[in-house]
Amino acid sequence: MGKIIAIANQKGGVGKTTSAVNLSAGLAQLKNRVLVVDIDPQGNATSGLGISKADMDQCIYNVLVEDLPAEQVCVPTQIENLDMIPATIQLSGAEIELVSTISREVRLKKALEDLKEQYDYIIIDCPPSLGLLTINALTSADTVLIPVQCEYYALEGLSQLLNTIRLVQKHLNKTLMIEGVLLTMLDARTNLGIQVIEEVKKYFQDKVYQSVIPRSIRLGEAPSHGQPILKYDPKSKGAEVYLELAKEVVGNGERVG
Ligand code: ADP
Ligand code: MG
Repeated sequence: MGKIIAIANQKGGVGKTTSAVNLSAGLAQLKNRVLVVDIDPQGNATSGLGISKADMDQCIYNVLVEDLPAEQVCVPTQIENLDMIPATIQLSGAEIELVSTISREVRLKKALEDLKEQYDYIIIDCPPSLGLLTINALTSADTVLIPVQCEYYALEGLSQLLNTIRLVQKHLNKTLMIEGVLLTMLDARTNLGIQVIEEVKKYFQDKVYQSVIPRSIRLGEAPSHGQPILKYDPKSKGAEVYLELAKEVVGNGERVG
């Protein structure tokens, strides 16, 4: 049975999508069968994995709102062992349309149930909000991975996210756990980054991954080529660290059992 990991933080631009795409590629390189589920209407994970949104007439929207079987929108990517369920701008209506549907919080969970057996990991890239789409992700997930940008105010807003996680644990998904906290976009030339790492470690302790993602031009460029960093520039520091992160994630699972 696959493990479902939601990548969530309601702040935009903290590295959710970059981490969803590259962690998934890392897990796939380690010979795991991986599915990326894009539930952000911006569809950045979709284009970042080289899937053209323009040619697509169905996406995760049809699964969530119209009960289309998830398998029917699942597509292979150019990376071996890595499939994805894409999102297009059509999904932007879902947040509102879902409000009046039956079992609105568990639609993604139900949709992924049949696919769970076919994958070792299912990685969900969440939108930058705590609305129904993110709630659906947290309700389906076994764990949540929280990217935190190495910036001043790094911890700001995290209490809202943790509150939402607690509410989901209480009402919708008792077994949801925090997978880990990932520090992203570290600029090694500044002291600020080091201070933020210390602050985040004080707060989240051993939940913080050893792997810290550096700020790197190559990581920023890769999405415009529709490729994960492990394909775009496999020798780069970014590729190396995301592969290390994938090993940590696999190791975590083994420790927990
Ligand atoms: P989110 O999904 O949280 O909104 P993204 O992963 O899309 O964040 O990242 C925001 C922007 O920063 C994107 O343009 C992305 O390419 C860029 N980016 C993300 N991580 C890095 C990094 N480690 N180094 C350089 N640029 C990055
Ligand atoms: Mg994103």
